[in-house]
Amino acid sequence: MAVFAPQDKMMFQLTMRRRGISDQAVLRAMEEVRREAFVEPEDQTAAYADTALPIACGQTISQPFVVAYMTEQLQLKHHHRVLEIGTGSGYQAAILSRLAADVVTLERFRFLAERARKRLGELGCGNVEVLVGDGYDVPDSAGQFDRIIVTAAMDQIPEDLIRRLEPDGILVAPVGPQTGSQTLVKLRKTAQGLERTELIGVRFVPALPGIAREM
Ligand code: SAH
Repeated sequence: MAVFAPQDKMMFQLTMRRRGISDQAVLRAMEEVRREAFVEPEDQTAAYADTALPIACGQTISQPFVVAYMTEQLQLKHHHRVLEIGTGSGYQAAILSRLAADVVTLERFRFLAERARKRLGELGCGNVEVLVGDGYDVPDSAGQFDRIIVTAAMDQIPEDLIRRLEPDGILVAPVGPQTGSQTLVKLRKTAQGLERTELIGVRFVPALPGIAREM
């Protein structure tokens, strides 16, 4: 039973365009992935509002505009291998899965990782691998990536993540204090070195080291 009106979804697309998202493939992915499948049952009616919402373990599902914006900044190609730090609900991973060849996503809460894995499986996102892990300590076995997206706030971008980028790779991450707001930073690995661009102000929950003990 749909608890939101069809016009909510139309407004959602309009909001993305109005706020400046213009990449057609990104807009299509945002249209196709049902955000209501990733929010808590009590937030169903707010699924298509352009706001972050609480999920289990005291975490959040990001604001749709920020998901679309970060995805657009990644300039994804269909052959890309992508690493996400901070699976949360799995929503961002579902968007990435439609635009890239393979997605590896790391979450420090086992509960969130298992729930996202189940959800993504049910939704047919067969190219996403959800791992319980720490984005500050990515296992060597995960390999190298064309694109890296961090969806939790980091004081600075760890050297190890930069090493994981293929030549010409792009990394997007919220960088700044863990309380308050951060700046979205885009790094591109070029033959001449790292190219750093500061994008927009954002607010993310903190990236914390280690696997969570609670759940
Ligand atoms: N991308 C998510 C939203 C992320 S919220 C979505 O689409 O729903 C940030 C997530 O990052 C939280 O679930 C938090 O537990 C996780 N996280 C924080 N620090 C982490 C770390 N060091 N390694 C992996 N995940 C981390």
